[in-house]
Amino acid sequence: MNEEKIPFSPEGYRKIIEYGLEKGYKFISFKDFEKNKHQEKICILRHDIDLSLDLAFEMAKIESEYHINGTYFVLLFDDLYNPFSHEGQKIIRKISDLGYEIGFHWNPLDYINSENPYHDFKKHLELLQSIAGESVKSVSNHLPTINGNIKIRLPPEGFINAYDSLFFNSGSFTYVSDSSMRWRQYIPIDLMKDGRGVHFLVHPIWWMIEGNKLKEKIKNLTEKNSAKIKESLNGFFLEIDNALSRRKELDELYLKNRSK
Ligand SMILES: [Zn+2]
Repeated sequence: MNEEKIPFSPEGYRKIIEYGLEKGYKFISFKDFEKNKHQEKICILRHDIDLSLDLAFEMAKIESEYHINGTYFVLLFDDLYNPFSHEGQKIIRKISDLGYEIGFHWNPLDYINSENPYHDFKKHLELLQSIAGESVKSVSNHLPTINGNIKIRLPPEGFINAYDSLFFNSGSFTYVSDSSMRWRQYIPIDLMKDGRGVHFLVHPIWWMIEGNKLKEKIKNLTEKNSAKIKESLNGFFLEIDNALSRRKELDELYLKNRSK
């Protein structure tokens, strides 16, 4: 299949899923690999959420229409989204409620100055568990090639590691990623055509944001994020305005409650 025929859009993503389903593929999470490992045609669907929780949720909604599964790996200390914000927590819980696995997208940079990386890693994992409302079993590291020279013996034993050699071009799986919209050797459909095990890394931004080129996608995400910040700021100042218009009443109430 010519990759030109698969646009980086929700429709393009649907085409890949529909092709896989037509070929008899089962799309699964890392957590469910063990119980599906004897199935012939499996595609582990992996999402590293690097930029936006909103887009991840939009993608999960599409997948749920097809009753397929996958793992959403969440960064805890990202500069571009906040899993601890009220909204962030809600979205993660919604993705989990749709039946998707929540995994920990750990960043090696968060542990380089740590005295006890194992301890900190587990502490962070517990934080994510409390947000997700489920136990977190699968982990994947953020930017492994950039951070590859950092020598930390993480993750600890006992987790399903997306970077386990089993999931990489082993006899069982061929890895394919949509990184920066540049496919390497294959597109997922090539592998599915041949009935091979697929480990498909999908970044929601390339599919869920309008635009054909990378720069257009980034521009559109920036605009979407700015609109959201503007809305939050407007909401905040509206609240302040309301409070100021009732200043006397609120001040009296505050003093009354404080003196109790
Ligand atoms: Zn990442």
